[in-house]
Amino acid sequence: MDRSRRAFRVRFDFEWDVTHRARCLHFRSRVRTKMQSNPPDEQAVLTFAELGLSTPLVAALKDVGYESPSPIQAATIPVLLAGHDLIGQAQTGTGKTAAFALPFLSMLDVSRREPQVLVLVPTRELAIQVAEAFQKYAHHMPGLHVLPIYGGQSYTPQLNALKRGTHVIVATPGRVMDHLQRGTLSLATLKYVVLDEADEMLQMGFVDAIDEILGMAPKERQVALFSATLPKPIRNIAQKHLRSPRDVTIRSKTTTATNIRQRYWVVSGMHKLDALTRILEVEAFDAMLVFARTKQATVELVEKREARGFASAALNGDIPQKQREATIDKLKSGKLDIVVATDVAARGLDVQRISHVI
Ligand code: AMP
Repeated sequence: MDRSRRAFRVRFDFEWDVTHRARCLHFRSRVRTKMQSNPPDEQAVLTFAELGLSTPLVAALKDVGYESPSPIQAATIPVLLAGHDLIGQAQTGTGKTAAFALPFLSMLDVSRREPQVLVLVPTRELAIQVAEAFQKYAHHMPGLHVLPIYGGQSYTPQLNALKRGTHVIVATPGRVMDHLQRGTLSLATLKYVVLDEADEMLQMGFVDAIDEILGMAPKERQVALFSATLPKPIRNIAQKHLRSPRDVTIRSKTTTATNIRQRYWVVSGMHKLDALTRILEVEAFDAMLVFARTKQATVELVEKREARGFASAALNGDIPQKQREATIDKLKSGKLDIVVATDVAARGLDVQRISHVI
């Protein structure tokens, strides 16, 4: 590895645009600007509780190890909790699912076992994935039922589950139309509708179905439309069915310095630790920053690195600021070679020695 590559500077910042009128979010944007020039000031990041989510949801998020809201969550949750329709432009991987699942779970009435939330998604896989996410976030909401319904699956279990009653339905539009035509599903009790990956649903020929479903939903419902792009038919749907929607656009800016070489290695979850060990064995590195999704994962990974003889430390939101600063100092001075961090804790880091980021 040549000197120039070893000496590159690493900065970790999120960049995003928030274009709507909620005051708190303008405040948040200002905070962010300040954070970029003044890192790392983690205190300024709003918490899930501060966004106004219910206590059972905040508890579930703690269980799953989410430290703080992602930009789309910070921008979207207050808008949906305030009852506005919304058009969100964001890619998958930004935390979009929680951005709509959390506020709607927060607002629905668990005591009424009837469809209150309908999430339309393009594929069966996404229906299952989104339904699982709802279930995970509703862990501390006893009696809350989520039902995925999609084409290709036999009708009997879907009919039985619909008869028993469910609060949240995550479905492909075609199968919703089938149930509506058979009279096995009523949208009369719906309060919240989500169109997830609307441009994908358009690609799959679901635009007429979406139009019909929204036409059959009660007039007093709230709609959140998410799409990576906004082609004309999707804008038409929004114009026809959404009321004064707020716009939230999350642009993940991925500019990479020319002296950074990017490589990837596809490994299954189980083999990630072995893969990391192998990389550490074969790569000559100066200092390394490893990202993990949760606080627990940072601690576990550090224990495993230590067991394999690498001087490493964790950096996450649970670790007091003083200790975090000490860790960074050690990394800078070479007393420590590997830091395993969550993205929040690593925000704004600027360490000359870092030659590898995993
Ligand atoms: P999505 O864009 O909804 O598919 O989410 C992408 C991934 O990010 C999923 O694995 C989520 O569990 C995870 N995720 C969502 N929100 C957060 C958060 N605030 N902190 C950490 N991970 C998150």
